[in-house]
Amino acid sequence: MPTYLGLDAVAFRTGCAIPRGMTAYEPVIGLEVHAQMRSRTKLFCGCPTDYGAPPNEHTCPVCLGLPGALPVPNQKAIELAVQAGLALECEVASQSVFARKNYFYPDLPKGYQISQFELPLNGKGHLDIEVDGETKRIGITRIHVEEDAAKNIHGAGSSAVTLVDFNRGGTPLIEIVSDPDLCSSDEAEAYLRKLRDILMFIGVNDGNLEEGSFRCDANVSIRPVGQKELGTRTELKNINSFRFVKKAIEHEIARQEGVLQSGGEIVQETRTWSEGQGKTISMRGKEEAHDYRYFPDPDLPPVVVAEERIAELRAAMPELPVAKRLRWQADMGLTEYDAGVLSAHPAVATYFEEVATTLAARSGKSLEKVGKKAGNFVQAELLRHVTTSGLEASFPVAATSVAELLASVEDGTINGKIAKKVFADMVDTGKAPKLIIEEQGLSQVTDTGAIEDEVRRIIEANPSQVEQYRSGKESLIGYFVGQVMKATKGAANPKMVNETLRRLLDEQ
Ligand SMILES: [Zn+2]
Repeated sequence: MPTYLGLDAVAFRTGCAIPRGMTAYEPVIGLEVHAQMRSRTKLFCGCPTDYGAPPNEHTCPVCLGLPGALPVPNQKAIELAVQAGLALECEVASQSVFARKNYFYPDLPKGYQISQFELPLNGKGHLDIEVDGETKRIGITRIHVEEDAAKNIHGAGSSAVTLVDFNRGGTPLIEIVSDPDLCSSDEAEAYLRKLRDILMFIGVNDGNLEEGSFRCDANVSIRPVGQKELGTRTELKNINSFRFVKKAIEHEIARQEGVLQSGGEIVQETRTWSEGQGKTISMRGKEEAHDYRYFPDPDLPPVVVAEERIAELRAAMPELPVAKRLRWQADMGLTEYDAGVLSAHPAVATYFEEVATTLAARSGKSLEKVGKKAGNFVQAELLRHVTTSGLEASFPVAATSVAELLASVEDGTINGKIAKKVFADMVDTGKAPKLIIEEQGLSQVTDTGAIEDEVRRIIEANPSQVEQYRSGKESLIGYFVGQVMKATKGAANPKMVNETLRRLLDEQ
């Protein structure tokens, strides 16, 4: 069966390279990511999931866990979770079961969280990451669906009380559990970035780490090189920035190594990253670990997803970044790096593609001819004016206007240098490129007579350079071109200037 990405022919790196300075131990890392799904309503009730509402505005008897309230599963959320599974090449279960995960905490009014345990929605899958120019396949253990807990606000104001905001309670999440296939903080970071990109591109998650819609726990252990059994692991909880994950894992590997080297033992425990102290600190030990007493939720029937529906959901998914990159490299001759930059954000990818295809249509040239030029311009001139927030991006000018500008380079109206100036004016004034070119008289001089007059004038004005050129110093051609361009305020067609100069300088 063809895979979603169609990438089975990639050569994969296996195993772990031993990090520099570490000879005795190798790290083993597994990641658990909680990603909020982009559903308008909660997982088991109709309350909205919008972020930033006043506390406890978005609540009802179901998500407040009031007695007698019954959950009704949100079909859209479950379908988004299926699409996440498909994007990570998971086996999607035709039947999965919601289970109660029992524990008591103020942010969980029912006394249990509805999650999935024995029969998750998505089984084994994988995610391929690039590290040091090589591709490594990281196994996905499972992706299950669950509701988020509410939010405790400790010591609000200067009070000693804890307040609870139930707005977040019941928000649909997927938990993506990786196999312990990662061996370094760099690999963990690459995995998280790639995972976020994919979930954003398929519209499952908004990738907003600051608002907590993409959160990561890391299980970290080390073992003597060559040993098969895993060492005792610690769990790093609630880290919501890629940078902190990287630092926390690095610190935790070094800490464990220090403990073992001094003859100590690693204690199984939950730790968190303290940015203030620059280290991981213990939250709770194993003796405080929960026994969740999972059992199937009697209020909810099994989730059945028909084969035909899975096929429909697969067909409805947008193209993933990796597929875009390969297509752009093949169709437009973009370099891997450029394709990577342009596909890093879904809105930027769409924008670039619109510039390239519109430019091809307007100039009557193939994508192969103009795609790379569009890519270079977007990267060099446009991206610094773009700001992104989650899935949103704001662009200074429309993609079609950039295409129109570049088309006027293609048809010889202006040259590339002038295009940059026109673009800066487009950003400042919002005017169309054609209007700016007209108003400022920037049209390229392609009149052979006018260029020849200018060239003759420059030759006459520079007799000593002419003599040097004619006695063999051909590199001076650049000087002459520069003089003509300066005299025409950059508006002359450089190719014609070059040709005319050589013709007139060589003819005597
Ligand atoms: Zn509700």
